[in-house]
Amino acid sequence: RAKSAGGNRFEHADAEADARAITRHGLTTSLPTALERGEFFIEYQPLVHLADGTVHGAEALVRWSHPTHGVLGPDRFIPLAEHTGLIVPLGRWVLEQSVRQARAWQEELAAGTFGGPLRINVNLSPAQLHHPGLVADTVEVLERVGLEPGSLCLEVTESALIGADEDLLKPLRQLAEMGVDIALDDFGTGYSNLANLRRLPVSVLKLDRSFTQGMQQHPADPVDIKIVEGIVSLAHSLELAVTVEGVETGTQAEHLRMLGCDTAQGWYYARPGPPEMLHTLSLADAV
Ligand code: C2E
Ligand code: MG
Ligand code: MG
Ligand code: MG
Repeated sequence: RAKSAGGNRFEHADAEADARAITRHGLTTSLPTALERGEFFIEYQPLVHLADGTVHGAEALVRWSHPTHGVLGPDRFIPLAEHTGLIVPLGRWVLEQSVRQARAWQEELAAGTFGGPLRINVNLSPAQLHHPGLVADTVEVLERVGLEPGSLCLEVTESALIGADEDLLKPLRQLAEMGVDIALDDFGTGYSNLANLRRLPVSVLKLDRSFTQGMQQHPADPVDIKIVEGIVSLAHSLELAVTVEGVETGTQAEHLRMLGCDTAQGWYYARPGPPEMLHTLSLADAV
């Protein structure tokens, strides 16, 4: 199984152009059978508490180990999977693997073998939100594997929820009522109405990496400071936790900690990696 160096080497600015390139390279024909051939795998990236550097959870990030193209990041095939409908079975597979992994970590911790993440974040794409089986499938997996709903966080992008009506929000509301956390991913990029936040069944805001980038220099970008301060204060007044993504340096981590963000994720702490990586992770020196 291919191991990735993680991060942005997968990232492409234009998902549409990517989908076209993939089509040209014939990935369209290999994608539908990739799931049954067992070509997908998941890397996990820890989320840490900014206050003390302890591990809060981990985000599951899917990769495709293609027999001839090598390891492909999600930006290369998720748009295509959405387009072809494969995203529903693929998403269900990612959820099941991730829930099993979280359960395994919890059992290992209970046995005293190591201290790993006890909570798992799983990304949901818009097509999965629209699929009528979402709530039933999620409940079924949690019960069968034996994971508390409170150990699962589902990440939905802000743009997927812009203008969402009650029909679209209902499954998320049901999951939230069961105790599943819902996070608003890539927050700050979607131009959503901030007042709208009250209407959404979310408990976590994941601040987009673009805000973290403004925290790179010392002193940090004054405008970015004001924006992040505003978002954190709004989020906390609505009783939402704030996670920041893309933390690459200690300077960024320190600024974001001072600004009151709760948890963080990024290469500064750890790149996405195999589940065993989380076993050995020592975050003490990253604080
Ligand atoms: P996301 O949910 O916003 O995930 C964060 C992305 O930032 C990941 O890219 C991660 O590898 C990358 N990242 C983490 N730390 C850093 C850092 O310090 N610096 C930089 N530059 N990047 C960092 P990745 O793994 O390529 O995933 C891209 C997107 O694909 C994800 O964005 C998510 O929207 C989507 N995705 C990943 N797995 C799944 C999945 O199982 N299902 C669905 N529907 N979408 C997924
Ligand atoms: Mg995410
Ligand atoms: Mg994100
Ligand atoms: Mg992002």
